[in-house]
Amino acid sequence: MADDHASRLSDVYRDLHAHPELSFQEHRTAGVAAAWLKDLDYEVIEGIATTGVAGVLRNGDGPTVLLRADMDALPVQEATGLEYASQVDGVMHACGHDMHVTCLLGASSELAASRADWSGTLVTVFQPAEETAGGAEGMVADGLFDRVPRPDVVLGQHVAPLPAGTIGLRAGPAFAATDALRVTLYGAGGHGSRPETTVDPVVMAAATVMRLQGIVAREVAATDMAVVTIGAVRAGSKNNIIPDDAELLLSIRSYDPAVRAKMLRAIERIVRAEAEASGATREPQLELMESAPAVINDAAAADRTRAALASVVGAQAVVDPGPVTGSEDVGVLAAAAGAPIVFWLLGGADPAAFAGASGLAELAGIVAGLPSNHSPLYAPVAHPTIRVGVNALSAAAREWLARPAS
Ligand SMILES: [Zn+2]
Ligand SMILES: [Zn+2]
Repeated sequence: MADDHASRLSDVYRDLHAHPELSFQEHRTAGVAAAWLKDLDYEVIEGIATTGVAGVLRNGDGPTVLLRADMDALPVQEATGLEYASQVDGVMHACGHDMHVTCLLGASSELAASRADWSGTLVTVFQPAEETAGGAEGMVADGLFDRVPRPDVVLGQHVAPLPAGTIGLRAGPAFAATDALRVTLYGAGGHGSRPETTVDPVVMAAATVMRLQGIVAREVAATDMAVVTIGAVRAGSKNNIIPDDAELLLSIRSYDPAVRAKMLRAIERIVRAEAEASGATREPQLELMESAPAVINDAAAADRTRAALASVVGAQAVVDPGPVTGSEDVGVLAAAAGAPIVFWLLGGADPAAFAGASGLAELAGIVAGLPSNHSPLYAPVAHPTIRVGVNALSAAAREWLARPAS
């Protein structure tokens, strides 16, 4: 990557980081992506599922490769103190999707500039709303694959607190399925001094929260991956008022669809039983808000792609991160296209933090102590992350595209 290109990308990254946008509101980001692709003479389709952008570069006969980046930020108040920190109150690129957009713009440029060296069709997709797990589905429902050629492979990456300069790739189950569930518990409010005249939804919620912990501990086999997290508990407004209702927001992760179904059944059973036990006069409500399937990296496709990634960072720097409990909706694009997916982790943590670490256990300990994605302190280093991310996408795409006919 030429120096002027690298510095332009670093400016783009800082600009995107300073201007984060929430899910399905990525208008400015989409504009940046579309303008960049038009400059490179890609066919550009905008407004797919509101803010989605797709660029198509037709370059002769050969396979079609789809590269994907997500664009949305999170409702987090940034606390990094970076000079290019978010200028939007309460919104932050805390998951690094600004890095994904930057790297895909860089790869779009690299692959356009080197088009004499490959043959086929490149599709670059800038997806809205990964964080709410609706963006990939939205683009498919809005006719993505009627509007761009259907790919032979879907490739992408997610920045993670691994050392910058390393890549994490796992064949098979790589990212967990996710379900977001809203539970509303109905009590009967009243004066805080006279609880006997009420059905207290706060106590009902507390009992439910504790009881839900038993699902993973007691109902799922130790050999199965499962997470039930209650990320929000909302009830009441004042110390001496017993409120009418309480709300719980749950995040559920799994790999095995049977485990997922079992957890959802157990959650419903416990929520209804605790409401009954509390004397609730009205049935609780359970609402599945968002879901995304697990990302299962195609084994043969992952092997083929690993070789390309190794050419960028060296074989010893392509590590197996194990199955990740985080989730991604990118698998929806691959499933809709009927194509294999290969999705890897891009190291973004300052390599200096790992100085002197010997062995995997020590490395894992350092990773565990670093701010993770979604933290108000999450701050991937721009260098060498951008360069590696651009080269990883470009090399992986080139691996799947054809050599030109000579
Ligand atoms: Zn995220
Ligand atoms: Zn993310």
